[in-house]
Amino acid sequence: MRIAIAGISHESLNFSPVSVSLEEFRVWRGEELLQADSQFAPYESGVSGKGKYCPSYATLAEMMQDLGVEAAPILHANALAPSGVVQERAYLQLRDEIVAGIRQAGHLDGVCLILHGALLVENIWSGETDLVRSIRAVVGQDVPIAARLDLHGNLTEEFANKTDIWTVYRTAPHRDAAQTLERAMTLLVRSIREGLRPRPAFVRVPLLLPGEISTTDVEPMKSLLARVGEIERQAGILTAEILVGFAWADAAHASSSVAVIAEDEAHLPHARHEVKRLAQAMWDERHNFTFDQEVAASADEAIDLALAAEEGTVFIADSGDNPTAGTPGDVTHFLARLLAKQTPDAILAGIPDGTAARACFEQGVGATVSLRLGGKLDSEHGGPLDVTGVVEHLYRPGGDGKEAAIATLRVGGVRVLISDRRNYYSALDDFRRAGVEPLEHKIVVVKLGYLMPELRDAAPREILALTPGYSDMDLTRLPYRQVTRPVFPLDKGFEWRPMISNVAGYDG
Ligand SMILES: [Zn+2]
Repeated sequence: MRIAIAGISHESLNFSPVSVSLEEFRVWRGEELLQADSQFAPYESGVSGKGKYCPSYATLAEMMQDLGVEAAPILHANALAPSGVVQERAYLQLRDEIVAGIRQAGHLDGVCLILHGALLVENIWSGETDLVRSIRAVVGQDVPIAARLDLHGNLTEEFANKTDIWTVYRTAPHRDAAQTLERAMTLLVRSIREGLRPRPAFVRVPLLLPGEISTTDVEPMKSLLARVGEIERQAGILTAEILVGFAWADAAHASSSVAVIAEDEAHLPHARHEVKRLAQAMWDERHNFTFDQEVAASADEAIDLALAAEEGTVFIADSGDNPTAGTPGDVTHFLARLLAKQTPDAILAGIPDGTAARACFEQGVGATVSLRLGGKLDSEHGGPLDVTGVVEHLYRPGGDGKEAAIATLRVGGVRVLISDRRNYYSALDDFRRAGVEPLEHKIVVVKLGYLMPELRDAAPREILALTPGYSDMDLTRLPYRQVTRPVFPLDKGFEWRPMISNVAGYDG
């Protein structure tokens, strides 16, 4: 048995004016793809220190060997960080290389795709749909295609029609990327061995849910996922999956969705019945999605709570400008508030600003520098901030030149981590590279939504601040134009009944 492996993974927040070029992807080709350990931790924070979510394999090569399957590794491209839409030329180059690779791969029994699910491409919209359409055109109707997806993906009906199997992360914050890929591959191999012809039943649910109100260790996602487990144990059902969706994508197909995949045509009616029930259950919970952590209504409120806290360190998420959701990340609102309040001891992680970082590197450690900082990529939520501070630390990365250089500037009591390009701080070592030990400071402001597993485990207290930016948690403040209406919570009080959205064949 021979299976091709390929994919393009990216999460696009298209309110952001920052588009993504080819240089902002990490690309693995051929044997490199099979041997890379990164395939089993697509996010650096994907493995919890608690050891609960350890992947069974270190590499794709190991997994394929264990399954007794020959791999035809083509290409996987993973964007360095979530961002805006991918430039059309960049996407087409990657897609065409994948399609050519599959065409040249010789006999294939199946295709397994490694995707995120929220890829938007200039002039093309859903990148995953275009990719599956292009691959299906080459392999024909009889070669099954499986896909691994992040639960923050927005799927289209055409994607559902042209794909046979998909598996979706069941944890947010994410801890099961590796297991989800393993599940996709295992189900694909099983279907081929047993001669099954999977048939997905797919329902789009008109909900836009920020990831922070749909984490999986709490209700209602916990019960919905328990239900998924019950459905997939039923006879004739290959798998059941929930996509929370990606709310900050202004696209016609942005919404939550659910799928139940039948093992074959005979079990499709049962899958359709179950998927409707699952969709109805998710819709019925729409008012119950809520934050699983302490929330502050503003930056000021969060700072006041942290300063009064008994805990030695309080992590605050500047959630409105969250680059892990794809925002530019250079909104200076929170920094301005920390400085205005003369906060005695805080870390602000961080502000990407190439010009400002360069100035710090030129002046060197110990120098006093004045900067017009940030507010250049996102100029809509407050402009640059004039700051004067002392350069305390400079981090120059080695390697392939894709990692950010970071200057640490002390402005009053606030240490600002200034990077030469977009980045984020999701693990303790990300701070240590910048010469700061987060747990030795009173306030640590991170540009994140929920904290990633390692920080969540380490933080004595975590406050999510509802701040302005393109990842505003209050979706009604964002300028949606493309999303299909009505959709909750932009629209309220409308009736909805589940309808199967796809044809579970290849006609769409
Ligand atoms: Zn995600």
